[in-house]
Amino acid sequence: MHIVLISTPIGFLGSGKGGGVELTLNSLVSGLLSLGHSVEVIAPKNSKLFKCNQKAKLYFIEGEDQISWQHQNYNSPVTIPDNSLLAGMLEKGIDIAKQADVILNMSYDWLPIWMTLNVEIPIAHIISMGSQSSVISNLISKVYAKYPYNFAFHSKIQANDYSFIKKPIIIGNGFKLENYNFLDSVNGPLAWVGRVAKEKGLEDAVYVANKLGEKLNVWGFIEDETYAKKIEQSFPKGTINWMGFLTTYELQKELGKCRVLLNTPKWNEAYGNVIVEALACGVPVVAYRRGGPSEIIQHGETGYLAHPDDKETLLSYVKIVKKIRRENCREWVEKNASTDIFANKVVNWLNKVIKEY
Ligand code: UDP
Repeated sequence: MHIVLISTPIGFLGSGKGGGVELTLNSLVSGLLSLGHSVEVIAPKNSKLFKCNQKAKLYFIEGEDQISWQHQNYNSPVTIPDNSLLAGMLEKGIDIAKQADVILNMSYDWLPIWMTLNVEIPIAHIISMGSQSSVISNLISKVYAKYPYNFAFHSKIQANDYSFIKKPIIIGNGFKLENYNFLDSVNGPLAWVGRVAKEKGLEDAVYVANKLGEKLNVWGFIEDETYAKKIEQSFPKGTINWMGFLTTYELQKELGKCRVLLNTPKWNEAYGNVIVEALACGVPVVAYRRGGPSEIIQHGETGYLAHPDDKETLLSYVKIVKKIRRENCREWVEKNASTDIFANKVVNWLNKVIKEY
C-alpha cells in the first residue's frame, strides 16, 4: 500500500506541542514500513522522524499553526489563518497522493474532514481526541453518513463521544518496544508525564505527592505557563520537580527509575500514550477511571483506577502500588500495544476504506 500521511498542524514533530500524535505517527510509520508498505509524511518544517523511519519520505511545509481545539470553546467557529500550515499540508498531500492509495490524516481539524467529500482520493482519519468541537463533530457525522469506514478511534470510550457512530473502528495505539527498557525500580520516585495544560489535571498528582511528603517528577511540554505557575504556588516549594521535555529515549531512561506514574485526566482522554510508555518500562500506573486510561490499565494487575477526581482514593492506591508485579506491566504492552499489532489494525482498516471507496 502507498500511504500519504498528514501530520498535526500544531508544532513540528519533535516539539512536544503536538502531544501524543507525534509519537503515534512515528510508531505507525515504523509499523507500516516493517510490513512493507510505502509511506510519505507531510509535516511542519523542522519536523524529525525517528531514525528507524528514514525510509519514509518526509515533506516539509511552512505556515501558521492551527489553534488546538481543546483550548477553544465547544461552539467556536473554524478559524484558518493566513498562510495556513494545515491548508499547505493538505495541498501537498493531494498533489502527491495522485500516485498513492490513500491519504491518512492525523490532524484533528475541520478542513481535512471536509475534503473527504470533495477530492478524488480516499481520505481516512485517525481521530485523536474526544468531541472537542460541535462544528467538527457535526461534520464527522455528515461525512460518516457517506463514508462510514473513514474514521478510526484510539479507544471505545473516546468513540462514545461521537454517539452517531454505531460501530466504531478502534485501532488502539502502538509502541516500539525496543525503545523502552524494563527496570525493576520498586523504591523509586513518583512520576507524572504529559503536556502541562488544564485538561491533564496535574494538580491532583501534586496533591498526592504533597500528602506523601514526596516530590513529584514532572516531564513534558509546558503548554500553559500560567496554569503551571498557579499549581506550583498552591503547594509547598519544591513539591514539583520540573524535569523538562525529553526525547523518547531520555524519557524512558528516567521513567523506568520511578515506582509509579500518576495519570489524572480531567477530559475524555482519547488514549494516553504516556501510560503505555510507563508500562513498557515496568512502571505501574495509578489513574482516574476516565477516557483511554480506563481501558488500558488492568485494575490490580498493571496499576489501579480511582473514581474520577477522587484524590484520596488515588493516594490510597499509590500507597499500595508495590503490590503490582512490574513484569505484568511490560507484558501487557508486548501483548496489546506493539507497533506491529497497531500497524496491522491500521492496514486492515485502510484496506476497508479503499475497497468501499
Ligand atoms: N512526551 C515526550 N517527552 C516528555 C514528555 C512527554 O516525548 O518529556 C510525549 C509522550 O511520549 C507522549 C506525549 O508526549 O507521546 C503525550 O501524549 P499523550 O497521549 O499522553 O497526551 P496528549 O498530549 O496527546 O493529550
